[in-house]
Amino acid sequence: MTENLNLFTSTQGLFKDALDKLGYDEGMYELLKEPLRMIEVRIPIKMDDGKVKVFTGYRGQHNDAVGPTKGGVRYHPEVTLEEVKALSMWMTLKAGIVDLPYGGGKGAIVCDPREMSMGELERLSRGYVRALSQVMGPNKDIPAPDVFTNAQIMAWMMDEYSRIDEFNSPGFITGKPIVLGGSQGRDRATAEGVTIIIEEAAKRRGIDMKGARIVIQGFGNAGSFLSKFLHDAGAKVIGISDAYGALHDPEGLDIDYLLDRRDSFGTVTTLFDNTISNQELLELDCDILVPAAISNQITEKNAHKIKATIVVEAANGPTTTEGTRILKERGILLVPDVLASAGGVTVSYFEWVQNNMGYYWTEEEVREKMTKKMVDAFENVYTTAETRNIDMRLAAYMIGVRKTAEASRFRGWA
Ligand code: GLU
Repeated sequence: MTENLNLFTSTQGLFKDALDKLGYDEGMYELLKEPLRMIEVRIPIKMDDGKVKVFTGYRGQHNDAVGPTKGGVRYHPEVTLEEVKALSMWMTLKAGIVDLPYGGGKGAIVCDPREMSMGELERLSRGYVRALSQVMGPNKDIPAPDVFTNAQIMAWMMDEYSRIDEFNSPGFITGKPIVLGGSQGRDRATAEGVTIIIEEAAKRRGIDMKGARIVIQGFGNAGSFLSKFLHDAGAKVIGISDAYGALHDPEGLDIDYLLDRRDSFGTVTTLFDNTISNQELLELDCDILVPAAISNQITEKNAHKIKATIVVEAANGPTTTEGTRILKERGILLVPDVLASAGGVTVSYFEWVQNNMGYYWTEEEVREKMTKKMVDAFENVYTTAETRNIDMRLAAYMIGVRKTAEASRFRGWA
């Protein structure tokens, strides 16, 4: 898809800008503009009807100068090699922003899990690990959940790796069920991280979270958890949407009711007549707008109509380069995805640490440690953006890439 190619080239462009601003030469960009390793595998799986189907899988390992590479595996029918490359580079940034001892990695299988049985999914997940076990491992490259993958899939993958390794290896993968060495709080870590970032951004703009008017695009995993956390924090969620439309109530929506009525894909607006469009939702008068659905939502076409004071990106790439520029010009604070969504990998890191030492933390301990990481990361990116008068996206890229660039230089790779 050209969209994925754009994602990759715009990521490269931002890496270039960030490295230039940090004073690195062309050689460093040459090293970091693509993953060090990009592996494509073919995975033959016996389907329920007895026929063999061959699936394509990918794993991108951007750079392991800092430590093992880390990042999720997504299952999606339209996923491409370019997308995996770009997303592995984003994981390097996230790890750098929250200061984890990792480089970035990302994997994918081209498949539609919504049309597969549990047995087929299990065989495919195990097949992926068999195909890549030589290049992955607790001290090489550590996978995790991503789009359409979950704790059960992590459990199968961990079991397969442990069999190959002939050793119980919980640290091979994160996002596992708690009984298999998963961490407290990992399942809602991404949404909790976004909530912390929203609170920090609100403080900087003098917005009181009690009564703050919030619009959230998307009611899937991220959007629904998020609306609940913000609602519980006293904010007024005045708009939400799904793939079919959006709901708006200036007095605040009944979030508990909507959560109760949503189906497992996050659809809820189909139950109502008085819906508005996703486009109208983005342009609502509000304090904080959170795109938590799909990419390319705020563009040169609508960025000048956004009325929010703060935009926090909970989805991957919801704002285009032009959209980012217009928001900055208009004085709207845009908090980028690589910062806002780093809570997931942060708690994944805690999971891996707990697996390595065999000693497990309480939910409170995890939350406290995660909050500190996210608050420090926000402060760091915000201050860099202010002092250099650049947008927070470029600031996040600078901070995100710096550690990997430094480590690569010390190792003599650039
Ligand atoms: N897939 C998530 C992300 O993109 C989590 C990665 C991880 O936990 O390693 O940030």
